[in-house]
Amino acid sequence: MKKSFFFLLFFLLLASLSLIAQPDRWQQRVKYTMNIDMNAETNQYKGIQKLEYWNNSPDTLKRVFYHLYWNAFQPNSMMDTRSRRQGSVVLRKDRNGDDIVDWDGRVTDRIVNLSKEETGYQQVLSIKMNGRPQKYIYHETILEVVLDRPVLPKSKVIFDMNWEAQVPLQIRRSGRDNPTTGVQYTMTQWYPKMVEYDYEGWHPTDYIAREFYGVWGHYDVKINIDKDYILGSTGYLQNPNQIGHGYENKGVKVVRPESLKLSWHFIAPNVHDFAWAADKEFKHITRTIANGPVIHVLYNGEPTQDQFQSISTTAQASFGNDYNKWAATWDAQWETMADAAVTVYPFIKKNFGEYPYKQYSFIHGGDGGMEYPMATMLVSSGLGTAFHEWMHSWYQMILATNESLHAWMDEGFTEYATNLVEEYYRQQVSRKNAANDPAALRRSDSIAQILPLYHKDNYAGYIALAKSGREEPMTTHADHFNTNYAYSNAAYSKGAVFMEQLGYIVGAPVRDKILLEYYRQWRFKHPNPNDLVRIAEKISGIQLDWYKTYWVGTTKTIDYGIDSLYEINNATRIRLSRIGQMPMPVDVKITFKDGSIEWHYVPLNLMFGTKPVEEGREKRLTYEAWKWTHPIYEIETKKKLTDIVLVEIDPSQRMADIERKNNKLELKW
Ligand SMILES: [Zn+2]
Repeated sequence: MKKSFFFLLFFLLLASLSLIAQPDRWQQRVKYTMNIDMNAETNQYKGIQKLEYWNNSPDTLKRVFYHLYWNAFQPNSMMDTRSRRQGSVVLRKDRNGDDIVDWDGRVTDRIVNLSKEETGYQQVLSIKMNGRPQKYIYHETILEVVLDRPVLPKSKVIFDMNWEAQVPLQIRRSGRDNPTTGVQYTMTQWYPKMVEYDYEGWHPTDYIAREFYGVWGHYDVKINIDKDYILGSTGYLQNPNQIGHGYENKGVKVVRPESLKLSWHFIAPNVHDFAWAADKEFKHITRTIANGPVIHVLYNGEPTQDQFQSISTTAQASFGNDYNKWAATWDAQWETMADAAVTVYPFIKKNFGEYPYKQYSFIHGGDGGMEYPMATMLVSSGLGTAFHEWMHSWYQMILATNESLHAWMDEGFTEYATNLVEEYYRQQVSRKNAANDPAALRRSDSIAQILPLYHKDNYAGYIALAKSGREEPMTTHADHFNTNYAYSNAAYSKGAVFMEQLGYIVGAPVRDKILLEYYRQWRFKHPNPNDLVRIAEKISGIQLDWYKTYWVGTTKTIDYGIDSLYEINNATRIRLSRIGQMPMPVDVKITFKDGSIEWHYVPLNLMFGTKPVEEGREKRLTYEAWKWTHPIYEIETKKKLTDIVLVEIDPSQRMADIERKNNKLELKW
């Protein structure tokens, strides 16, 4: 082979490699080896942590930071002070004329009222880097370690830490003696955790009960705890045949050591956090999903009165407000959760991507629902929350956007996916029931027709926010929204609407492809909004920077209206007006007296493209783009004015028009 030819081949190969290369960004890496000794008498534990830290950045690090989340559970902490301050923000009045205030009902002023034994803390006793003691400074929930020698680019160091901690009374996410579930220990945010350092620098975010961001790595955790506790956890249990409690291999006789405590040994590869819970009354059920993970469900085997009181009054009424009747269904409720996970997984895998770990645990504990790698804490057996938390595995655990900066890409997309998973599950159940009761399927189909919009609660939540005067741009740091109300409606609802509305702009099948490709290209890489939008642009062939700018970066709203109709030369012109500040493409449906319909489509000039024709709209009329500077646009039908009975802008209601009254014009002749 001639040399020049070889070089040509080499460059061709290089060029083609760069064409198919996955997007990449350097990332820090961690390996935690932790040994925990739990004292269930005092609710305290001692921990030893070896943290191997790979600085893959091009930067020299002169200090590092750790999260010490539990220091938030001290009177007058930032979490406490902020919560009490939000308690004085009146959002509106309830039905009885009482104030609805902005604080989280789980936190309120509970922290300031904790006794010393009820507070939580994480106290570092010593920290060394490569064997040398290091200086450290507490900033409440953040520990700053001032390094005696810098960590050089592309190098690895080892931190050794000894610390002790007290488990706070359950208030938010973590804690002991859960008032609702009766679960003894919910161990989340429980260890000193390295703060993430990325292309935007350090993210030492104070813990005020909000969002998380972490470094991916390997966790090797040993938890020593009294023998009578049963654990649910992130990771794979390494000594199941010493532990038992449903973890043991089939047919194996469990042999426990003589000691008073058991050592539970878990390994979790490629995760950015680790959570566990422990209770003496945990019941443990499992399911194995074909070509999927093993599902573990752990729940308090003795349901409590408080648990019954925590379910909705409608749910209580369905049991005749009878605790015993409800308690008799307790085991079945959790069995249903395990079965439901098996039912929905093929749908999830097909639409959102494969779950990459070997196990997932639904664990009774915490408050509401909170997601962790390979596990969630759930306050009840409700399936909606269970699905939501599991879907976080895709958006928070595997894609793992920085939630503090882009909470909507996590909560919003999780909501979007959950709505579809719930709908799929509902259809599967009614299909099953239809075998015995064919009328049930017809009933369920008619519900699907009434509610074509599976995301309608999120649309309603966003529109209420937009009209409340409290909306802030989604580019606001999650901790720094003025109200919890504005944060949560932006993150959950406006974020979910982003995805459904994207389907309106580029076409639903294209959007579905974008979502899968986004997962494929960006998993384990911490994508930001631009990364998502670039994929959407490449797949759709439509420019979408304007969508990101308006929807994410501003609080401008969408409002289109039908201005007027007039007949000219046996044709009818329909004048549309853009009333809101945010421009969008516009779909218009015209219905005629004879029952026929026409679809008219006006793309937005900023798109430099058009969406593909959607199902059922094969004879769509596509117009020249509407310039975003122009408030008025006219479309035309070749029929007479008196032939028209209905004109409607976006009858699919996927465009989040905040004033839908002017979208529809009925003509009575
Ligand atoms: Zn969530």
